[in-house]
Amino acid sequence: MSSTWHILGAGSLGSLWACRLARAGKPVRLVLRDKARLQAYEAAGGLTLVEQGKAQLQAIPAQLADDNTPIHRLLVACKAYDAEQAVAQLAPRLARDAELILLQNGLGSQEAVANRVPHARCVFASSTEGAFREQDWQVNFAGHGFNWLGDPANPGPPGWLEDLSDAGIPHQWTPDILTRLWRKLALNCAINPLTVLHDCRNGGLQAHHCEVATLCAELAELLQYCGQPEAAEGLNEEVERVIHATAANYSSMYQDVRHGRRTEIHYLLGHACRTASRHGRQLPHLERLYRRLVEHLNTRGLPSD
Ligand code: NAP
Repeated sequence: MSSTWHILGAGSLGSLWACRLARAGKPVRLVLRDKARLQAYEAAGGLTLVEQGKAQLQAIPAQLADDNTPIHRLLVACKAYDAEQAVAQLAPRLARDAELILLQNGLGSQEAVANRVPHARCVFASSTEGAFREQDWQVNFAGHGFNWLGDPANPGPPGWLEDLSDAGIPHQWTPDILTRLWRKLALNCAINPLTVLHDCRNGGLQAHHCEVATLCAELAELLQYCGQPEAAEGLNEEVERVIHATAANYSSMYQDVRHGRRTEIHYLLGHACRTASRHGRQLPHLERLYRRLVEHLNTRGLPSD
């Protein structure tokens, strides 16, 4: 089995993983969106990782989806709303033993991808690493965070975890990846939409304790009845801790809206509301929050799906 890492999406996280794997001597190929992006990438000469003020260029080869080499290992590093379509384009190239690692935030996109490629193993990831791009083909990384990896369909760890250790990518294999993803989703639902609607930094929510607590109670109820009681434990306390610890930060959703970028709302608050309705449950505050956020996005001309 080929050990090449194909990386779909050379955005912030995709570039961060690609640079660290390439730096450790692992074979890496970027899969870019179209000819124009490939030309722009080739003109730049590679990806640059900026860490602790030091920039390092990695001349990682890149290709398009219609290249004809088979893919055994694919890191899917698109946004949640792009993942299914982007993977579908690569489906004909996936080998019988193909393994996909899905880096998407929220829930819903992983299932959509897995249904598109039923013969492939899909490993879900939950990442707290933070990377951002100041310009194309250059990623800045503060060096903090962690990656949880797991496969709800198969608890056995894959052999390539060693590559991550060699590349210094902090990670742990867990049989409870869905619990991790649900917990992160709940934290996001309790904080990010309110920062958009109150137009504030995370710390601004300290003035809205009651609203936050009401949302946490509904989220905890949702987690209980969708089989994730561990993800519900001490949710309100952790949300308050995060608000306090990140008081000076703007949430990712706040920044997306501010810059006129599409958000991943459909896979976060949207997924929570859809799951509640599938269970025939009413979560009035969460549903109202979702309606207000959709309206807010629509008035700014941003998609809400
Ligand atoms: P990003 O910077 O916007 O990168 C996404 C990349 O996917 C873009 O470069 C985009 O290409 C590419 N793409 C989309 N469709 C494609 C296609 N069909 N073929 C090839 N490339 C395609 O996003 P990100 O911040 O890395 O986030 C990726 C996921 O990780 C999200 O779900 C996010 O929530 C999650 N996450 C991110 C961070 C972080 O710090 N950034 C942390 C934790 C989790 P173009 O450049 O051509 O548009």
